[in-house]
Amino acid sequence: MTVETPRYDRSKLTPGIVHIGLGNFHRAHMAVYLDDLFNLGLGHDWAILGAGVRAPDAKMRDALKGQDCLSTVIELDPAGKTCRRVGSMIDFLPVEAGNASLIAAMTQPEIRIVSLTVTEGGYFINAATGQFDPAAPEIMADAANPDAPGTAFGAIVAALKARRAAGVPPFTVMCCDNLPGNGHVTRAAVVGLARLSDPELAGWIDTHVAFPNAMVDRITPATGPRERTMAASFGLADDPVPVTCEPFRQWVVEDHFPAGRPPLEQVGVTFSDHVHAYEMMKIRILNGGHAIIAYPGGLMDIEYVHEAMAHRLISALLDKVEREEVIPYVPLVPDTDIPAYFDLIRARFANPEVADTERRLCLDGSNRQPKFIIPSVRDALAAGRPARGLALVSAMWCRYCAGRTDSGAEIAPNDPNWDVLQGLARQAQEQPYVWLEQRTIYGDLADHAGFAADFAHWLRSLATQGTEATLRAYLAS
Ligand code: NAD
Repeated sequence: MTVETPRYDRSKLTPGIVHIGLGNFHRAHMAVYLDDLFNLGLGHDWAILGAGVRAPDAKMRDALKGQDCLSTVIELDPAGKTCRRVGSMIDFLPVEAGNASLIAAMTQPEIRIVSLTVTEGGYFINAATGQFDPAAPEIMADAANPDAPGTAFGAIVAALKARRAAGVPPFTVMCCDNLPGNGHVTRAAVVGLARLSDPELAGWIDTHVAFPNAMVDRITPATGPRERTMAASFGLADDPVPVTCEPFRQWVVEDHFPAGRPPLEQVGVTFSDHVHAYEMMKIRILNGGHAIIAYPGGLMDIEYVHEAMAHRLISALLDKVEREEVIPYVPLVPDTDIPAYFDLIRARFANPEVADTERRLCLDGSNRQPKFIIPSVRDALAAGRPARGLALVSAMWCRYCAGRTDSGAEIAPNDPNWDVLQGLARQAQEQPYVWLEQRTIYGDLADHAGFAADFAHWLRSLATQGTEATLRAYLAS
């Protein structure tokens, strides 16, 4: 099987980007777009320097340095896998306490973008307020010791301070994490941290540094034995860190890069003032779709997402809920046919090569339901329409948290708040409304008589009839 390699001279590349958080997603997404660009002979002054601020990142550094920073990326096309070695990263900075090498690299004028994938949980957001949390211990530690910070944001603040002192214009900070308004969230973390130690610098950052919002998309599984076996089938058994991903990818970014940017529009990146619309479409239809098919699969002991999609009732549930209760409230998106987008999502979920698990989709419902499901419920109710399918989704989540599948198998804890959720879910079997009384998740929806009655009806049905019969009843309605 052939492996595609860079068609450009990597020794001639020069760095323009420092990327913090060298996980699988970055290597399957941004690094691939840049590899495509370099293959076109464009943007050779925008190579990536990898970086990490956490001790485990040193392992990834060793692995990648051991193979000249090349990443193996295998695209899981059901029609045939393809494999490439991605060459857009040319070095990986030392991973060290205090982050001196990272700060020094980000201070160099040639670095014009600092990008991040440090996971959704990496932005120090207070769950209760949804705002940046200046009292988080790691943030307080960086505020007390700004010259040797431990967080990515501390390192960014230190580098911006040094650039400002040296008269070097600031870099653009480009977040590639899956967060609504990810540029705003990143600005809040960087400026919020700077404010604690140097309010004047914080004001300067707020005024002069760009934090474009972006929507990113590509399903990229974690690497395990299955992925290593695949790499071996392409003759790359020596690569300890191959990446696999679905063929689809999308990246929509606000075009706000005062220090310049690579011409990524040449390789399929969309620059748009309407990132929010794309993001809402993705969160409601894709992430919401995952949340719709997660719990029926979990309750019926289905292991893989593609198996759930092949289950007639789950597939029909997804179709009916999306078309009746989700898609009607997704605003128009530039140059996008929303029903066609949904068809694409269905095909992506059904891809057996990705081998995404139902358990992964069921994870962390307490964080995901309020982002991916509840907003659609609110829009439907505000339009005077019922949200019976979404009430069923909530009831299935509740039933799942009670801790047993329909076959009686125990469900292992699958949420940071599992114990609390399980207690409430068990109580809800007798008193359904206690579940909706979780106001940080449902807001005032417990007070909506129609939604609360639908939820109670479905929860009772799941307990007495089981998931399959309940799905049949919903689909017949
Ligand atoms: P991963 O586990 O492979 O990598 C995560 C990286 O983030 C690692 O380098 C880790 O050290 C770093 N990190 C984690 N917590 C951090 C923190 N608090 N501070 C600094 N660094 C931290 O995960 P991944 O698949 O690369 O996904 C990373 C993020 O990419 C996701 O959380 C999501 O926001 C985004 N994303 C992922 C996918 C996907 O399918 N994997 C799709 C779209 C977007």
